[in-house]
Amino acid sequence: MKSLRYLFRIGNGPSSSHTIAPLNAIRFIVNENPNAKKMEVILRGSLAFTGRGHFTDVAINSELDSHKIQNSISFDYDTETEFPNEMEVIVDGNKKYRVISLGGGALKINDKLLDDNTEVYPEKNFSEIKEYCLSHNISLPEYVYLREGNDIKECLKKVFETMMDTVNRGLEKGGVLPGKLHLERKAKIFFEKNDENESNQSRMTRLVTSYAYACGEENASGGVVVTAPTCGSCGVLPAVLRYYSDSNDLSLDSCIDALAVAGIIGNVVKHNGSISGAEAGCQAEIGTATAMSAAAMSFLRGLNINGIESASEMAIEHSLGLTCDPVLGYVQIPCIERNAVAALEAIQISYISDFVMNSHLVSLDDIINTALMTGKDLKSNYRETSSGGLATITKFNAGE
Ligand code: SF4
Repeated sequence: MKSLRYLFRIGNGPSSSHTIAPLNAIRFIVNENPNAKKMEVILRGSLAFTGRGHFTDVAINSELDSHKIQNSISFDYDTETEFPNEMEVIVDGNKKYRVISLGGGALKINDKLLDDNTEVYPEKNFSEIKEYCLSHNISLPEYVYLREGNDIKECLKKVFETMMDTVNRGLEKGGVLPGKLHLERKAKIFFEKNDENESNQSRMTRLVTSYAYACGEENASGGVVVTAPTCGSCGVLPAVLRYYSDSNDLSLDSCIDALAVAGIIGNVVKHNGSISGAEAGCQAEIGTATAMSAAAMSFLRGLNINGIESASEMAIEHSLGLTCDPVLGYVQIPCIERNAVAALEAIQISYISDFVMNSHLVSLDDIINTALMTGKDLKSNYRETSSGGLATITKFNAGE
């Protein structure tokens, strides 16, 4: 498995696969062709079906404009693709690049992975990691620092600070999100809606919801977010960390340790299953984000490695089959609200884990594999093509 640096990426929303990755591909190609005059970009698969709603064309156009490169962007809905998100770039009419967006911001260009390919973790799945931790008597954060080196703490610190910045920005803003849905921003409204008779339960629900919405709304408007594991699911982990660290006055070091735990769970899913909505539906994005958050919360609450495993396993088990059908292709409905629901679920799951952690029969590795198989069984309508489920609600498509 590769470094957590390639799981937690900092970039502009609304989508790791549809904005961050295509933009990085264009930057790479421009860098290789500094004298290019013209680029033709053809979006295929899910990049074609939901590229407009995810502002893929806007992001590419503005990047090429900034280099004064003439460009044309087209949406090819007909060509069968080998991978869910593909893009072809033709430079000055002859030099061709085949770009594959793998999910979570990862990229292949002409079959070469753009990230550093170094295998940082020799363990291949969670059961191997657990065995190593138990036999060496170390915690999951200690395992991450051992494998990655202590430098990773600096990277996780930046990740945590960026997540909190995103929450803070989102809590301050009002108005309407970009796109045809004209959705009102709600994070600030929820955050400020306290009343003196509010119960603890209601306060917790309101605050967690407002933090998750803050990230989701920043993401939907193209703001800076951290992929956790993707842009669409970027609000779950920050919401849980913000709520739990504020209410327990946790140190920055504890939050960094919790991010290491969340990161290793996300990494195991990324390398053995899927974190791409276009490949395996929303269970791959929100399901993984819920698992990462339930694991982080369980670690902060002092659960052992079995408790962390059972919490993350439950999160994926109960997201199985979750579809990706964003209305009009915008990362707004169901995505923003779904981040809030998932954050609350992650917190509850951590408490359930107290009771079941020593008796759960399904391992994290088993459920990751099951989620991948389930995702592949989902019809393409439910894998980020905006052609099934919620995306077919008529009033939206009629532009009402
Ligand atoms: S429905 Fe889920 S997977 Fe699809 S874009 Fe929204 S958050 Fe991502």
